[in-house]
Amino acid sequence: MLLIKTSAEIQKRVQTIRCSGDKIGFVPTMGALHTGHLSLIDQAKKENDFVIVSIFVNPTQFNNQLDFDNYPNKTKQDLDLLEEHGVDCVFLPIVQEMYNDDSVLSFDFGYLENIMEGAFRPGHFNGVATIVAKFFNIVNPHKAYFGQKDIQQVAVIKSLVAALSFQLEIIVVPTCRALTGLALSSRNQRLTAQEKKIATMLYQTLVSVRDGICSGDLFDNLKKKEIAFLEQNYGFRVEYLELVESSTLKNCEMKSGGEFAICVAAYLGDVRLIDNLVFVSE
Ligand code: AMP
Repeated sequence: MLLIKTSAEIQKRVQTIRCSGDKIGFVPTMGALHTGHLSLIDQAKKENDFVIVSIFVNPTQFNNQLDFDNYPNKTKQDLDLLEEHGVDCVFLPIVQEMYNDDSVLSFDFGYLENIMEGAFRPGHFNGVATIVAKFFNIVNPHKAYFGQKDIQQVAVIKSLVAALSFQLEIIVVPTCRALTGLALSSRNQRLTAQEKKIATMLYQTLVSVRDGICSGDLFDNLKKKEIAFLEQNYGFRVEYLELVESSTLKNCEMKSGGEFAICVAAYLGDVRLIDNLVFVSE
């Protein structure tokens, strides 16, 4: 497995691979890898000849300094996992490699900036789009893999790809969960054993809202009830619980035959968790 730290070196390598006709799959991550990341990597391995994984904790997408400072760092363990999963190349740049100057880039993703993650994490998507655009230019992959767990990030990246005419395909991989239903996340490592049990309630909430909607209950009523339940019984601090159309992420009225997503973000202690459940209404 190649370990590369500079853009110049990875660009040279990519050029040679592309000239040989091989297909490049790219999986951007912030490290502290878990089975969710590995599901993206395994899919990339199946669909490409050469798989590049980046590990970079991108400072510009953190709107909360404490979250950035506490973000887990497990590089040695991550590299062992990537090697075991047959990754061909790891791109591990330092911050100065990716940001050697004040950024001149600024994106506006319209309504996506003002709903859910956009509303609660000002500047977050600008940071995500900046680093992903840089990676796409440097790595120049045929396919790039993102998790459905970050459903709004997927919408932003699809919008970025369309706006900048990147010649690549975005592949969305389903959310990987623990047996309890808890969506795997690097931030789960900061939860105590007791909090990990409680955190599964977020997924239970998504399931119960979906079941309620499918049996004809009004979303607004379910929302009030579930938020009160999570906050009063389990100590969550819920930022949002929304029902949206899965492709646009716009708030919507329920109608049959559509695909919807229920999305939630909540703090448990000082750890912020997000999750979503996509479903089709019959
Ligand atoms: P991160 O390291 O958190 O930036 O995540 C890197 C990629 O892994 C992103 O595309 C995430 O959406 C994806 N990812 C994170 N957690 C999961 C999960 N539980 N299941 C599937 N993909 C995930």
